[in-house]
Amino acid sequence: MSSQQNNSNTQQADSPRAPRRTPMACQFCRGRKLKCDGSRPSCGNCNRRGFPCEYTPVSAEQK
Ligand SMILES: [Zn+2]
Ligand SMILES: [Zn+2]
Repeated sequence: MSSQQNNSNTQQADSPRAPRRTPMACQFCRGRKLKCDGSRPSCGNCNRRGFPCEYTPVSAEQK
């Protein structure tokens, strides 16, 4: 863990401002049509059930 953090140039995919944020459900939630919270590495549903949470990217384009 690094205590050095630059607040000026930080490239993070976790931006608070995400106009287009597709709710990505894991395989388990998708199959059961559950509301996936999208937590990683394991979402709430998988975590509770002890299932291996797997996320399959819809498009190959990921930033
Ligand atoms: Zn899920
Ligand atoms: Zn899951």
